[in-house]
Amino acid sequence: MEINKKSGFVTIVGKPNAGKSTLINQIAKNKISIATPKRNTTRNQINFIYNDNDSQIIFIDTPGFLEITNNLDERMVEIIRRNMKEVDLVLFIIKAGEKLDQDYLKKIELIDNKTKKFLLVNKVDLVKSKAELIQDFEEYQSVNIFDEIIPISALKNTNIDVLMKEIKKYLPLDVQYYPEDQMVDYSNEFYTAEIIREKILFKFHDEIPHEVFVKVTNFDKEGGIIKIRAEIIISRESLKKIIIGKDGETIKDIGMKSRKELERYFNSKIFLETFVKIRKNWKNKESIIKEI
Ligand code: GDP
Ligand code: MG
Repeated sequence: MEINKKSGFVTIVGKPNAGKSTLINQIAKNKISIATPKRNTTRNQINFIYNDNDSQIIFIDTPGFLEITNNLDERMVEIIRRNMKEVDLVLFIIKAGEKLDQDYLKKIELIDNKTKKFLLVNKVDLVKSKAELIQDFEEYQSVNIFDEIIPISALKNTNIDVLMKEIKKYLPLDVQYYPEDQMVDYSNEFYTAEIIREKILFKFHDEIPHEVFVKVTNFDKEGGIIKIRAEIIISRESLKKIIIGKDGETIKDIGMKSRKELERYFNSKIFLETFVKIRKNWKNKESIIKEI
């Protein structure tokens, strides 16, 4: 394969509501193709692959940052280090006007120096006072962790072009990890499954999520409402109890949170049904993974 493009792995981390999904959608609007996720080959989950004339940027999920926890125990440190190993660049996104969360900073400091770190100050469209923004920027700079600090508005598409340029600047000239012709469409089903999986991940933040597949079996638009049927596929009976929870409360909560985000993303009312299914030993079966 020719080495003529900037190429690498990028992850976006930040608190809920910081604007991660909006940013991904904004980038995706410009140029996107999606890989069939190779879930069994890496702990990290591919979100999407951005391709243009001079770059291939693979956006991945890095579980471990998602949880906001006050004690960074050994297990967390291990998870973060492991999941960040293959990341070339981390985009740490916060809302404009927000102070830097010390807990997040500690996590970011754990990441190897060869992984570049950007701070994205999002929602600048909401900022009334430029002076305050400038003051905040001085503070952000003073922590000395970030290679770049970029003000953006993910929603209004402000400075996203600058962001892409900066990302490319920091990525190595490398092989393209994924041939473009292997890309498949970024389908609604895929995105839906990702959101549900994210909610499960968020809820359990442990080993469990890596034994979970989400498969969307129905996605129908009917008179202003989208009806979705999703299967949560797991390998063991014992996980089923955990995911369903007492009186079905856990699965209900996962469904509710997923629905809310899906409604935002698709800008439509959503009717979401989830089913938990067991498929023993799916991890070892290539055919099942392909089918899923
Ligand atoms: P996530 O939880 O980090 O994925 O955050 P979302 O992308 O879902 O965004 C949370 C909310 O903030 C949504 O209502 C977005 O429309 C809104 N939002 C995201 N980016 C911006 C922005 O640049 N400006 C404004 N005004 N709102 C934004
Ligand atoms: Mg989101």
